[in-house]
Amino acid sequence: MNFSWTPEQENLRASVVEFAQTQLSHDVVERDLRLEFSPDDWQKCAEFGIQGLAIPKEYGGQGHDLLTASYAMDGLGYGCRDNGLTFALNSEYVSVSKTLLDVGSEAQKQKYLRAICTGEMIGAYAMTEPGSGSDAFSLKTTAKEVDGGYLLNGHKFLLTFAPVADFVLVFATLNPEYGQWGISVFLVERGAKGFRTTETQPKMGLRTTPIGELFLEDCFVPAENLVGEEGAGAAIFNISQEVERAGILASQLGIMEYQLEKAVEYARTREQFGQPIGSFQAVSHRLAEMKMRLDVARLLSYRALWLIQEGKPAALEASLANIYMSESFIDSSLDAIMVHGGRGYLTATEVERDLRDAVGGPVYGGTSDIQKNIVAKNLGL
Ligand SMILES: Cc1cc2nc3c(=O)[nH]c(=O)nc-3n(C[C@H](O)[C@H](O)[C@H](O)COP(=O)(O)OP(=O)(O)OC[C@H]3O[C@@H](n4cnc5c(N)ncnc54)[C@H](O)[C@@H]3O)c2cc1C
Repeated sequence: MNFSWTPEQENLRASVVEFAQTQLSHDVVERDLRLEFSPDDWQKCAEFGIQGLAIPKEYGGQGHDLLTASYAMDGLGYGCRDNGLTFALNSEYVSVSKTLLDVGSEAQKQKYLRAICTGEMIGAYAMTEPGSGSDAFSLKTTAKEVDGGYLLNGHKFLLTFAPVADFVLVFATLNPEYGQWGISVFLVERGAKGFRTTETQPKMGLRTTPIGELFLEDCFVPAENLVGEEGAGAAIFNISQEVERAGILASQLGIMEYQLEKAVEYARTREQFGQPIGSFQAVSHRLAEMKMRLDVARLLSYRALWLIQEGKPAALEASLANIYMSESFIDSSLDAIMVHGGRGYLTATEVERDLRDAVGGPVYGGTSDIQKNIVAKNLGL
């Protein structure tokens, strides 16, 4: 077993950290208050190659393997203070790009993956509906075969990028009587007749990521926009969920590293009772626990990603990594606030925002409860 990164991987991460620290905007406090996504930063990321890190060169990407790309995204989390931006970048890769890579047609890959890499197009992934979240396969959106394609009708909910996406991978059923085997995936472009999205919806955290709803009313989708085979939707979802669970929090590792460094620095310099607060065991133990969570999260994440990269089963490991990574970010964000005392509670110090951004972690990509069900099932329960 080898726990070290190669010099090339270290250099890639370092270059991403430098890019994020020097090129990305620093007005996150204000944009967080205004719920504002930064298209400029998105474009800068595309020009640097972030959207294409794990997309093969033949489709305009950088061609890195999953682990290397995740390590680079860890660096993005360390260098970039906009957690909404890093979440959205990870989300687009694990759900949209990876699905197209795995099951898209050659024409779909050439058109949409290339456009994702250049930043020309943003893709969204539409499974959740008002009536179906954890029980994803009970979705109600329908597809009907018509001349030259399909007509889609339905309402999708809580979608990352719905308000701005140029295209959406929509899960819909062609045959409700077949249950999950009736579900297929359709690529729907904005501008199609009957395609409508809402404005960005206010939410607790990740406020710089646009999230909203999608309405499809007799929306025509040409036959060539079917993604994968008819009836393969459930299988496509299950495959993408494994990668999503293991990879969507890749940048959060770097965020937790930065958060810990800032908290240690504060504990070394802030004095009370004539000594640095870090000399009080109550404070130093919080920092020790933050470090322990970060290291365990990293190891669980790398194991799951390595298994996926090797083509080995990873359902259990991906769920364990996701539960631990998402829940430990909440715990560490709360600890970081406590170390900073009242200053940690103030928006301007940029400490409290992490906690708000962390709370979505155990919800998106399947709640921690659902992931624990997967772990239990893998234990034979
Ligand atoms: C920031 C964010 C981004 C998102 N982006 C997307 C996106 O891009 N595309 C998309 O399709 N969706 C997206 N979602 C939706 C997300 O996938 C769902 O919110 C999630 O799957 C949970 O579904 P739900 O909200 O309907 O909750 P429900 O399924 O209604 O669950 C409510 C509660 O019941 C519990 N529960 C339900 N069933 C069980 C069970 N069998 N065992 C134990 N507990 C159970 C849950 O754990 C939860 O605590 C996003 C959500 C968030 C917060």
